[in-house]
Amino acid sequence: MAEVITAKTAGFCFGVKKAVDKAFEMAETGKEIYTYGPVIHNDEVVGELKAKGVKVLEGEEELSSVTSGTVILRSHGVSRHIMELLEEKNIDYVDVTCPFVKRIHNIVDEKSRDHEIVIVGNPNHPEVEGIVGWCRNGATVISGTEEAEAFEPSSDLPVCVVSQTTFNFKKFKEIVEIFSRKLYNCNIVNTICNATEKHQAEAREIAEAVDTMIVIGDSKSSNSRKLYEICKERCSNTYFVQTLEDLKLQKCRPVGSIGITAGASTPNNIIEEVQNYVRNDI
Ligand code: SF4
Repeated sequence: MAEVITAKTAGFCFGVKKAVDKAFEMAETGKEIYTYGPVIHNDEVVGELKAKGVKVLEGEEELSSVTSGTVILRSHGVSRHIMELLEEKNIDYVDVTCPFVKRIHNIVDEKSRDHEIVIVGNPNHPEVEGIVGWCRNGATVISGTEEAEAFEPSSDLPVCVVSQTTFNFKKFKEIVEIFSRKLYNCNIVNTICNATEKHQAEAREIAEAVDTMIVIGDSKSSNSRKLYEICKERCSNTYFVQTLEDLKLQKCRPVGSIGITAGASTPNNIIEEVQNYVRNDI
């Protein structure tokens, strides 16, 4: 039997758990329920909710057309504009924005009165789009050290730097060093969430110690992809899979000891299936 180490932090963080639990709880009410965007980046969970009648609204236009029922705002949060739209149209909603994300909205809302805002993250991720939407005069989004080197403030205002909650902590530190060196008046707030930091640190530690590493997560999940990057750097024999079937399809034949971690949007049952398979059937 292969030696298998599964990360204690693998799977749902508290923000995702809260959002998913709320969606399943509301699905049972028999009312018309919507989520603004998929409640998490996981096709299995979204499919289960769909089977219970929960509909996914794909954008502002679809949201505007809602005339009854309740809309769940997922843990990624939404922009000020979307909040205003909900109020204006008198749409009933339940806000399960993660408190770590809400904290960033509050920081940029306040700081953008007299600072230029830089967000370190993926510009196309809904969390980042939401954060930009709380900045009073827009924001610059950068995702790597090259962009940090090239950044020039567009005014005399001091700069405030925040980060997407799931950004790679090591990369964020490299970017912070660049900003601290080149910008005289720069206010840096580390807004990577605690759950992400712990998740990444444990993945790093396990990947360094094993011969094969398996990262379970949806390809659309930002934090899962970050975990994969981190593990791959330390263990060249790293697989990124969405489900057990996916692992089988990749013809994964792990050698030696095996480490497993999973993104914050991966349900426990998938982690257990993969864990049992590599422990007993390989
Ligand atoms: S990863 Fe962190 S910020 Fe994102 S939902 Fe989970 S706890 Fe909240």
